[in-house]
Amino acid sequence: MYIEIQSLICGLMEDKDVQDYTSQIKMETGLHERDRAGVQDFVLLENYQDDGAFIENLKKRFQENLIYTYIGQVLVSVNPYKQLPIYTADHVKAYRNKHFYEMPPHIFAVTDNAFRSLIEENRGQCVLISGESGSGKTEASKKVLQFIAACSGNQTTVEGVKDRLLKSNPVLEAFGNAKTNRNDNSSRFGKYMDIQFDFKGAPIGGNILNYLLEKSRVVAQMGGERNFHIFYQLLAGADEALLQELRLERALDRYSYLTDGLNGSVTSINDADSFKQVQQALSVIDFSQEEQREIFGIVASILHLGNVSFIEVEGNAKVNSRDLVVTAARLLGVNATELEAALTHRTIDARGDVVTSPLIHELAIYARDALAKAVYDRLFSWLVQRLNISLQAKETRGARNNVMGILDIYGFEIFQKNSFEQFCINFCNEKLQQLFIELTLKSEQDEYRREGIEWIPVEYFDNKVICNLIEEKHKGIISILDEECLRPGEPTDKTFLEKLTQKLAQHHHYVCHEKAPAHIKKIMLRDEFRLVHYAGEVTYSVNGFLDKNNDLLFRDLKETLSKAGNGIVRSCFPEKELRSLKRPETAITQFRASLNNLMDILMCKEPSYIRCIKPNDLQTATVFNDELVLHQVKYLGLMENLRVRRAGFAYRRTYELFLERYKSLSKSTWPNYKGPGGPKAGVQQLVKDLGWDEEKYRVGETKLFIRWPRTLFDTEDAYQEK
Ligand code: ADP
Ligand code: MG
Repeated sequence: MYIEIQSLICGLMEDKDVQDYTSQIKMETGLHERDRAGVQDFVLLENYQDDGAFIENLKKRFQENLIYTYIGQVLVSVNPYKQLPIYTADHVKAYRNKHFYEMPPHIFAVTDNAFRSLIEENRGQCVLISGESGSGKTEASKKVLQFIAACSGNQTTVEGVKDRLLKSNPVLEAFGNAKTNRNDNSSRFGKYMDIQFDFKGAPIGGNILNYLLEKSRVVAQMGGERNFHIFYQLLAGADEALLQELRLERALDRYSYLTDGLNGSVTSINDADSFKQVQQALSVIDFSQEEQREIFGIVASILHLGNVSFIEVEGNAKVNSRDLVVTAARLLGVNATELEAALTHRTIDARGDVVTSPLIHELAIYARDALAKAVYDRLFSWLVQRLNISLQAKETRGARNNVMGILDIYGFEIFQKNSFEQFCINFCNEKLQQLFIELTLKSEQDEYRREGIEWIPVEYFDNKVICNLIEEKHKGIISILDEECLRPGEPTDKTFLEKLTQKLAQHHHYVCHEKAPAHIKKIMLRDEFRLVHYAGEVTYSVNGFLDKNNDLLFRDLKETLSKAGNGIVRSCFPEKELRSLKRPETAITQFRASLNNLMDILMCKEPSYIRCIKPNDLQTATVFNDELVLHQVKYLGLMENLRVRRAGFAYRRTYELFLERYKSLSKSTWPNYKGPGGPKAGVQQLVKDLGWDEEKYRVGETKLFIRWPRTLFDTEDAYQEK
């Protein structure tokens, strides 16, 4: 019987060539072993409200190497931690131009679906990838890019664009990724990449937006972690001449910025090879020799800066290792004496009263680290801008909304200790959840209304209230933080926390130590506050909030860098920033602005969701940790997602399209429906002939709605049996 259904489904496909292969893939992926392999779409799960059944299904599939499962159109992906043979050119071909519900779940199916809406219906698309660190987001984004590159035109002009799009990845990963305890290749920045297509579906350009690089990593790392890859790559991969020019030695333990976390190499990483790849990629993307020299000069200067130490003479810091300052200064192209002075002094311009005073030892170290972080952070942003220049579309033949975006951004973070960084990241996730509600839940209900489908609205939690708690003007946490940062006097993290509690104690989603229920109070410290996020409660320590938000780089250092001979450095620290009378925006305000800009970009696109899950904390293919997975399922909101999906109609097509595609399933519609009433009546006749249970579909004004398409398409043997 299975073969009959298969051949029936295959008979529906347009491209005869791929039929055999398609069934082969279905065999491989175990479609025929349904029980052992669980259900392909969670909407088919009987106990759909039961966490346990959900996890069990994921686990069954994981153990059969079936890492993809749908919740309607949302793709859930479990990191296999091993190479699976499911991303070959044949797979690309098999998924190309297929209807979503006729193939086993796959990231290529989601991509194909989005790509076709883009080309055929001219609707801008975005693929939103979320999940915690190590869950496979970045790999997923590469698969999306791979599919698009493989199935879009291959004229030489396009090849150039594709090459640059693909090559931008190793560059960004070298500078923006690091080994952490969760992931040997963890992205330490958020990334949104737009790919522009012409009307034929060929990529003609791209644009990358970067978010919040974790720059604190430049100067310190946790035990077991590394600094950004590029430092190790440079030391391992540069030839002798380059090392000599940069005054570097290969030994990692010579550099204090590299010795906090993990000394030495990581088995899964070959730094020397990666360095060659980065150099090659930079060349493909047209970085000039001069630019490359300047980039590596900056990277090296940071290593030298990290080794600069100070002594204290009569309370004032003095540079202890002048030769290092001289080397760093040469690489940055600044005057060594000026750099030395800037590292040990601070000039304050109080309404025209310019006062320069020496720094104490502790502050000199602070200044040095702030310099290293700022230089690296701005180098990274410069790289992104520079990549964008190379990716810019040369011609804009295509419609402007022929754009597909891919968002690979940090998921919700709930650690033992949560700080400013987690606050920003979780705020970002609240905004993305808002977007999900706007784009998916609300628009869905609107369509039912338009089409006159009766429908019981599903209750869902609208997290707007939490977004407001964080970002509302004058009242929200961000405003309170900024106010405290700018306040004269002696604002501290503690006074910030007091203000928060004073203003927000009554808010249902804010929990302060004083008013916390007993069991929470037990686990909270006095310097902590707690937010009830949509995905769960998170306790934040206020330590460092003010400092990180102010993100202060002393004026003397900025001034020195603004005159740098290294062109990249000079453009990263423009003089006009110094002359500006406005206070620079705080870190969180900049972040909020870039997030709101991102929301505007995404809001006008059709979304596809990929939810990534990490099966264990050990980076191994053999363990599925139920508890860990459940935790992720909860904070990705997958159970709620499923509930909404179950209540709705996963599949919808206009009558014309549906009839055209499935008319072969009934004698009354094959080869054409000739009765009265047009396509709508034709489809009604067709589903009647198929004996579909009326509960399973709805007839709208212009479209047919099917509740859980997989149940119906899998029982298409109804016609066969007649
Ligand atoms: P994230 O970006 O979510 O932090 P990554 O995409 O970097 O996670 O994935 C972490 C690691 O997991 C990768 O380096 C790779 O080894 C493995 N991995 C992730 N997705 C896949 C996949 N689809 N197939 C094979 N290995 C994968
Ligand atoms: Mg990543």
